[in-house]
Amino acid sequence: MHKFRYVRNQLHCENISIRSLAKKHGTPLYVYSSQTLIDNFNRLHKSVVPLDHLICFAMKSNSNLGVIHTLATMESGFDTVSGGEIQRVIAAGGDPRKCVFAGVGKTEDEISFALSKNIYCFNVESEPELTRINQIANKLKKKAPVAIRVNPNVDAKTHKKITTGTYENKFGIAYEKIAAVYARANKLKNIKLRGLQMHIGSQLTQVKPFEEAVRKVAPMAAKLKTKYGIEFLSIGGGIGIMYEDALASGDPKWWKCKEAKNILTPEKYADTLVPLLKPLGLKVLLEPGRFIAGNAGILVTRVEYVKRTGKKCFAIVDAAMNDLIRPAFYESYHEIVPVKQSRNRPIATDVVGGICETGDTFCKNRLIPRIEEGDLVAMLSAGAYGFVMAGTYNTRPLPAEVLVAGKNAAIVRKRQKVKDIWDGESVAPWQR
Ligand SMILES: *Cc1c(COP(=O)(O)O)cnc(C)c1O
Repeated sequence: MHKFRYVRNQLHCENISIRSLAKKHGTPLYVYSSQTLIDNFNRLHKSVVPLDHLICFAMKSNSNLGVIHTLATMESGFDTVSGGEIQRVIAAGGDPRKCVFAGVGKTEDEISFALSKNIYCFNVESEPELTRINQIANKLKKKAPVAIRVNPNVDAKTHKKITTGTYENKFGIAYEKIAAVYARANKLKNIKLRGLQMHIGSQLTQVKPFEEAVRKVAPMAAKLKTKYGIEFLSIGGGIGIMYEDALASGDPKWWKCKEAKNILTPEKYADTLVPLLKPLGLKVLLEPGRFIAGNAGILVTRVEYVKRTGKKCFAIVDAAMNDLIRPAFYESYHEIVPVKQSRNRPIATDVVGGICETGDTFCKNRLIPRIEEGDLVAMLSAGAYGFVMAGTYNTRPLPAEVLVAGKNAAIVRKRQKVKDIWDGESVAPWQR
């Protein structure tokens, strides 16, 4: 569900027309809907209300300060994967004591920083990391709160690049080794065992793999609670969203019919998982990223050229894979719709960026209403793993980001200036 709708033939984000934003701020432009972030957060929250729980937004999916602030005001916690992300939470007015810190490569500096900010928990991904956290905590005369990430070896049945919970993946500690690692961790003077964590992958569209993983891990959590007094089980993120959106059809009820059939809703997720989790008597952490932010953002771009060659039609737009890498990286689908609702005949079109890479293709032979040079189009569901993965390949500046709330819209990240791309670079002294 999201707040992007056509109103009098013009695509709107809440009460603001996308055309007006593109005119004011240029393209390519990310636009986020506050209300969609809030609705998604609330919907998930409501569905798991029978559990003592904390939603920790996975901010690697969208770490813009405006987005983080919106969620911080909802009393969200944050799932962070670097010291930089913890600093962003603080910069956005969020509470570091509601942060968990995941990731396989935590550096000494990051661990020290996180300890100094009294984060809620380190989600530990290996034994050497545990040893290192204990040493640093000892130096700082602290007790580090720790959960160990269990790799339950469950196939999430999603894209291979976003599968994390099998033994082929670098994440977590094997299920069979967990008991021994907790026993060892319990002897470390500067470690406090606070929880157990797992995360099996992203963009899951069925509840089955979640169910399988929770059934496998819940008894382990119960044992760890009895033995070491852990207080939480984190079941990670991964709830999938709908990328194929019938917004283009103009049916205002589109999501009701489509969603009911195809998509994993938080209600279905909760109906299956809450009965398995409730008897544990543990606090349950959820770490959704995509579910909260995915449908809350779009990428607006302008058609630079339309190139019709033989059988093909290429619409070359001013956004490219450096702005939104998901199609190139994960072969992922983004709905592409004209900003001005169109009754034009659909034509099989390749929407492509201007970067010198064949992979810089947003869609291939997709039927979209005939578009012309100068038209604005929007790539939907670009709020998660969109801007955060943007880069400056081909010396293209990072796009701007706008946050909308009702009738208000504000730039929450300025468009990068071209000369700022080489800020910090120079020729070597002997070249001068
Ligand atoms: C990426 C990640 C998430 C969020 O995944 P989504 O699919 O965006 O919900 C949650 N937890 C961990 C540990 C992650 O690495």
